[in-house]
Amino acid sequence: MLTADTPLRFLKGVGPARADKLVETGIETVEDLLYVLPFRWEDRRAFSRIADLRPGGAETTLDVTVDSARLIRTRRRGFTIFHAVLKDGSGTIKAVFYNQPFLQRVFTPGRRVVVFGRATLDRYGKEVILENPDHEGLDDADAEGIHTGRIVPVYRKLADLSSRMQRLLIWRALELLDPATLHDTVPRKTLARQSLPGRLDALREVHFPPAETSLRALVEHHTPGQRALAFEEIFLLQLALAMRRREVERERRVGTYVLDDALRRKLAALLPFKLTAAQQRVLKEIGEDLRSPHPMNRLLQGDVGSGKTIVALMALLVAVENGYQGALMAPTEILAEQHWRNVGRLLAAKGADYRVELLTGSMKSARRRSVLEGLATGGAHLVVGTHALFEKGVLFKRLGMVVVDEQHRFGVLQRAALASKGSRPDVLVMTATPIPRSLALTLYGDLDLSTIDELPPGRTPITTVVRAEADREKVYTGIRKEIAAGHQVYVVVPLVEETEKSDLKAATAFAAHLQEAVFPDLKVGLLHGKMKSDEKERTMARFTSGELHVLVATTVVEVGVDVPNASVMVVEHAERFGLAQLHQLRGRVGRGAARSYCVLMVGEGEGFGVARERLEIMTQTNDGFRISERDLELRGPGAVFGTQQHGMTDLQFLADVLRDSRLLETARDEARLLVNLEGDAGAERLLATLRPSWRRRLGLAGVG
Ligand code: ADP
Ligand code: MG
Repeated sequence: MLTADTPLRFLKGVGPARADKLVETGIETVEDLLYVLPFRWEDRRAFSRIADLRPGGAETTLDVTVDSARLIRTRRRGFTIFHAVLKDGSGTIKAVFYNQPFLQRVFTPGRRVVVFGRATLDRYGKEVILENPDHEGLDDADAEGIHTGRIVPVYRKLADLSSRMQRLLIWRALELLDPATLHDTVPRKTLARQSLPGRLDALREVHFPPAETSLRALVEHHTPGQRALAFEEIFLLQLALAMRRREVERERRVGTYVLDDALRRKLAALLPFKLTAAQQRVLKEIGEDLRSPHPMNRLLQGDVGSGKTIVALMALLVAVENGYQGALMAPTEILAEQHWRNVGRLLAAKGADYRVELLTGSMKSARRRSVLEGLATGGAHLVVGTHALFEKGVLFKRLGMVVVDEQHRFGVLQRAALASKGSRPDVLVMTATPIPRSLALTLYGDLDLSTIDELPPGRTPITTVVRAEADREKVYTGIRKEIAAGHQVYVVVPLVEETEKSDLKAATAFAAHLQEAVFPDLKVGLLHGKMKSDEKERTMARFTSGELHVLVATTVVEVGVDVPNASVMVVEHAERFGLAQLHQLRGRVGRGAARSYCVLMVGEGEGFGVARERLEIMTQTNDGFRISERDLELRGPGAVFGTQQHGMTDLQFLADVLRDSRLLETARDEARLLVNLEGDAGAERLLATLRPSWRRRLGLAGVG
């Protein structure tokens, strides 16, 4: 028998090496494995017959034997076509695969294979074929009831496990698990009230749906098991958030602030422009927080360019004017430096004498020491920096307010860590990733929410177009025209990993190519995350000053970089970016009065049509909310907010919950009810029983 806590290396078929790989992805125990859920299901309850296939019909599953197979190399270099002729009792059909030569090892003649797809006519309109069908080789040893003859789960690739292997392992785990060891986390009474099954039944059902399950219900995430798992996730998260909220309500601000008309006038005199109505409204909301006895905990969201920075600065200055220090944390050094320069410039222009310091990880130690001293003695009023601000050894005399810019880069954990720095400061987190309200309430239920829903006047909307390789010359001509008119251009290149050498080389080579072959008469610069910080700063300064005409950059320019003279943003391989990210990138232009353009270059190849369709919304709207919602629909919140890398709550079901706000609300109500009935102690007891992986997922680790 296995228990929920049994390490996976004790599950037959895993072994130590594979177990290590799984641990790297955060999957250590049987329970962890059971929570790796299928991303879709295939109906293999009944197989179609080849003889019955009609082109353009529904997707079907075939149980076939490989008759013959052939790999064809085409004249286009590196391009291959793989043909497999498949047969069942009723006839034969050809399956065609592009650029997947390794399929030779799957479709070996004589082997039994299950394929899943839609029949189409070949490009001559003659033969009925299957194009790139899903497939799975069957072996004699296969237990029939697992991989065929049922609705089968299909999993995303995990470590070195195929979907098929995962299916087998999960089947085994469910068979061998001692049910008593997988306790329900949601109280029985709550489950009963909502007519939801317990955890184990829910997991069983989601992995191996019973024969009578409607496939449609599965796809729409409406089965009882799916609802139960989603409910559990939201319920626990809401409980954790409710607890944190109560904690915050018990906390007291370091001191009381005076925010009277005299101070208001003094701060208003520093403004370089008239605030928009939305900015004024948000400042008022913040002002109310600052007058309450409890510390502020506010999320400020506003589309790129909506003017969040000035609002944050005003809030920080309230703290400073009351004798406290303020800190502004940015996600990258480039952005920290830019904020620091802008704040300094703005204050200097109005003759305000605040001491504003910069603190980043790569600063030289002498400079760093002097900054640290200023913070410790209180000589420095404001500090702008990266997360280096909240490392050990950074001490503040009287830290009153922390502003975190571009929150989606920071996790719940970091938020808690910085809140615990010194006495309890006010915290304002800002994000330009517009989060639909339902999601914001779920992820940030412990924060109050303010929104700047209006852009400053005088902005010209950005024109966005999708372009293919064939249009490249025209795009270059357009760039030249803009530069001749005195503007500047960003060219963003994708990096899979900022550390990946081959990608960096590609970016470097592309910049060199643009400089030498395309724009020899212009100045082209390169900016990427691996550059030394002073190098980055120099390049940014050359671009800001107008010396560079074209800046080739990785997504380090994504967040917040502000060069109003830049009027064109070209994104190479736009298909590799998420929509929300493209919107952030696009926000780098259209910051001045000039007409601005965003050109999304899409690489040629099979995916062109699909990519174009996905990017279409970018050409239709500049509204970050609409784009973000579309992105959520297409990719789910994990991908949109980059949860894995950034340690934000890693909720698997949120996408579905978004579609079903009723479930979200009932889970929230039930969590509140529990806190009301059983008090904090009850909620704490429940949360304390959560396993580490759950605590991680909920962002509870190190917080509670
Ligand atoms: P974001 O919300 O993306 O951080 P910023 O704070 O960087 O936006 O503001 C974008 C630009 O708009 C900056 O150049 C800023 O000076 C300018 N700006 C902000 N508020 C106003 C306003 N009320 N009127 C005119 N310009 C403004
Ligand atoms: Mg900003």
